[in-house]
Amino acid sequence: MSVIPVLEADVLRRQDPELAEILLGELARQSTTLQLIAAENFTSPAVLAALGSPLANKYAEGYPGARHHGGCEIVDVAERVAVDRAKALFGAEHANVQAHSGSSAVLAAYAALLRPGDTVLALGLPYGGHLTHGSPANFSGRWFDFVGYGVDAETGIVDYAQVRSLARLHRPKAIVCGSIAYPRHIDYAFFREVADEVGAYLIADAAHPIGLVAGGAAPNPVPYADVVCATTHKVLRGPRGGMLLCGSELAERVDRAVFPFTQGGAQMHTIAAKAVAFGEAATPAFTAYAHQVVANARVLAAGLAAEGLVVTTGGTDTHLITADPLPLGVDGRAARGQLAAAGMVLDCCALPHGDSRGLRLGTAAVTTQGMGEGEMAGIAALVAGVLRGRVDARSARDEVRDLVGGFPPYPG
Ligand SMILES: *Cc1c(COP(=O)(O)O)cnc(C)c1O
Repeated sequence: MSVIPVLEADVLRRQDPELAEILLGELARQSTTLQLIAAENFTSPAVLAALGSPLANKYAEGYPGARHHGGCEIVDVAERVAVDRAKALFGAEHANVQAHSGSSAVLAAYAALLRPGDTVLALGLPYGGHLTHGSPANFSGRWFDFVGYGVDAETGIVDYAQVRSLARLHRPKAIVCGSIAYPRHIDYAFFREVADEVGAYLIADAAHPIGLVAGGAAPNPVPYADVVCATTHKVLRGPRGGMLLCGSELAERVDRAVFPFTQGGAQMHTIAAKAVAFGEAATPAFTAYAHQVVANARVLAAGLAAEGLVVTTGGTDTHLITADPLPLGVDGRAARGQLAAAGMVLDCCALPHGDSRGLRLGTAAVTTQGMGEGEMAGIAALVAGVLRGRVDARSARDEVRDLVGGFPPYPG
């Protein structure tokens, strides 16, 4: 089966060869280069089928049973299934699956709990806070008064003592825990304790680890946070989108914060695809996947460290690794370019120490492809070979093509 149903029917190719070529070109790029971006994954053909379904045609403002449009009987069922599956998967009393993205979920969490001008304590952007955690370029930085905590410059671990002292000093209305680049588990019980001490809401932005939570490979923030925000497209391996989890007492505020406060019509094809992904994530196969993601990341981190890169926190508990390649004579930005030329796609990121940028990579996508610890060791060696100039871009590209050729993301 083709993963792009419209192309299988040849409809797009006949009607719009220009776009068909772009879609197939992207499929080829994803299949012939190494996908090490920590936030990416390969969704299943079933998820792609739901995304490409006629549910994309349906307008459905509101919530199941209370829509502003007619004809919602069937999509109502899709949303109820998605909500029920999300609640069961994460042990939450309430789930909202309408958020269009991770950022929309964070926006809705703030809208549910805060007023403009409120003080919010979150991980500072230089340490891995997301744009929605107070960037001046984002609504969050303009509408709220953000105070940033950091990580220990030596160890890279969240400076929990600083979290407590800043919370006591600033008495924030909300505390946000979660990051775009934190490789370790977060101590949610600690954050809950501090939030309770200062009378703050606790918002867990679990966009990255939520898929590990689903597979039992990372601690679940749901019992601790007032609201959990997440994406559905990172380790969780669903469609691009967001969701919120909370207790029953905040359910109505969260729902109204999504619609009608910050969004319009729900994207029913995406919600159906989220339901498919939640169904997949509830299987033993996904539990095995989540644990393999972490095992792979540990081997990759150890391999990079053995090659001389400085791995933040000395390793990882998750799918995500950040590392400084400077000891190999190249900073993160240049390294990303060299590795891209060699067919290895990853990001650069801020590092807790110093001014140079580091590399951020993850194992969610390669693990979905079926790669294991042996391949991770090979990837670490290849990364170092390229950055040290031992392997030229052309032979690295050939090596990458051989490697990924054995693990097609969409066989056939
Ligand atoms: C990825 C991410 C987001 C944003 O998700 P989008 O879907 O890109 O809007 C928000 N917060 C954190 C911590 C993330 O990692």
